[in-house]
Amino acid sequence: MSHFDVIVVGAGAIGAATTWKLALRGAKVLVLEREHVGHARGSSHGGSRIYRQAYFEHPDYVPLLREAYEDWSSMPGIFAPTGAVYLGPASSDLIAGSLRAAALHALRLEALSPGDPRRRLFPGAASFEALFEPTAGWVDPERAVRWMLDRAVSLGAHLREGVRVLSLRSQPDRVTLDTDAGELTASKVVVCGGPWTKKLLENLPVALRVTRQAACWFEVPAADRHRLAALPVFAIEDERGAFVYGFPIDSEGLLKVASHDKGEVIDPDDVSRASHATDEDAPRGALQRYFGVDGWRLARTSVCLYTNTPDGHYLLDRVPGERGVFFIGGTSGHGFKLAPVLGAAMAEIALDGGTSRPVGFLALSRFEGAT
Ligand SMILES: Cc1cc2nc3c(=O)[nH]c(=O)nc-3n(C[C@H](O)[C@H](O)[C@H](O)COP(=O)(O)OP(=O)(O)OC[C@H]3O[C@@H](n4cnc5c(N)ncnc54)[C@H](O)[C@@H]3O)c2cc1C
Repeated sequence: MSHFDVIVVGAGAIGAATTWKLALRGAKVLVLEREHVGHARGSSHGGSRIYRQAYFEHPDYVPLLREAYEDWSSMPGIFAPTGAVYLGPASSDLIAGSLRAAALHALRLEALSPGDPRRRLFPGAASFEALFEPTAGWVDPERAVRWMLDRAVSLGAHLREGVRVLSLRSQPDRVTLDTDAGELTASKVVVCGGPWTKKLLENLPVALRVTRQAACWFEVPAADRHRLAALPVFAIEDERGAFVYGFPIDSEGLLKVASHDKGEVIDPDDVSRASHATDEDAPRGALQRYFGVDGWRLARTSVCLYTNTPDGHYLLDRVPGERGVFFIGGTSGHGFKLAPVLGAAMAEIALDGGTSRPVGFLALSRFEGAT
């Protein structure tokens, strides 16, 4: 049995990025994945993830997003910088928050006039404010995870698929992991278990609610393809706060649209991944209202899982009471875009004992006394 500097648990986006950044630092690192890389039971599948910088959720993410931009841009054929249109009432979180982040960090964010062709793609949103962020775009999640793991392995990292970590124990000089393939030890462990984080770290002093989220792909009729050919990434929040987003038409002629509103709370080991009749309600409603189209054929759906913290912001910290054990989790449905920089910060924390990256706002301490 060999001993590792760091064992990473989970090879989704966050675990793959952490493994890559640890390997870049020269650490002897092993990543364990209970399924296979690229599986569709967690949170890192589905063909596309939005990358944006004018972060309406909180401006503190912006310095991290800028660094992540460099990483995504360095990965060949994985990031499509299409820009993004944001639509909503002036008071919506999406519009007000994006403008606030852009103003605080001097980001490029254009207000679109009523006659702007990018705005006219959404005739049913004419009463909304419209913004265009040129640095936004989308990342291919499956290819990105594979690319980061391939890079890590080429730097000497070890990847083991089909190995499930059952429990872990901190000892004064090491952490021991019990897995379904035997015992392993490391100086440090980073848990990147996505929806399963709380199953392994039961005593984490914060509630993590896992929700079932469906995305829909609609077949764009030939008559509409030309009109929508220039469609960038888009996000729309309505008067009631309902939030949908979507992507450019893909190479199969399909338009992916999904709701960002939190779905049904589920157990990640007991979730229906089949399509439900109601999965298409919000996406189809958005097509009708904003694009003015009806009856497009639903080509497929995909179920993915959000792991939600009480305030919707991520967690990156030590595990209290477990020496040498760290975790990144609770990415609350918006964590893909930051995976490389979260991984880089965690690599520093695990190897150096701290990081200069501004991730303090993601610490567990914000929930002290609240759980
Ligand atoms: C529908 C949907 C749309 C999204 N859209 C966006 C977007 O546009 N932009 C954006 O930035 N973010 C988006 N997100 C969020 C983003 O995809 C997630 O934050 C991110 O993928 C989380 O990655 P993860 O590695 O934490 O989790 P996962 O991808 O679930 O990876 C965790 C891995 O750990 C493994 N694992 C768990 N427990 C164990 C164990 N005990 N032993 C071994 N292995 C274990 C699991 O098998 C899994 O592979 C979206 C999420 C969903 C579901």
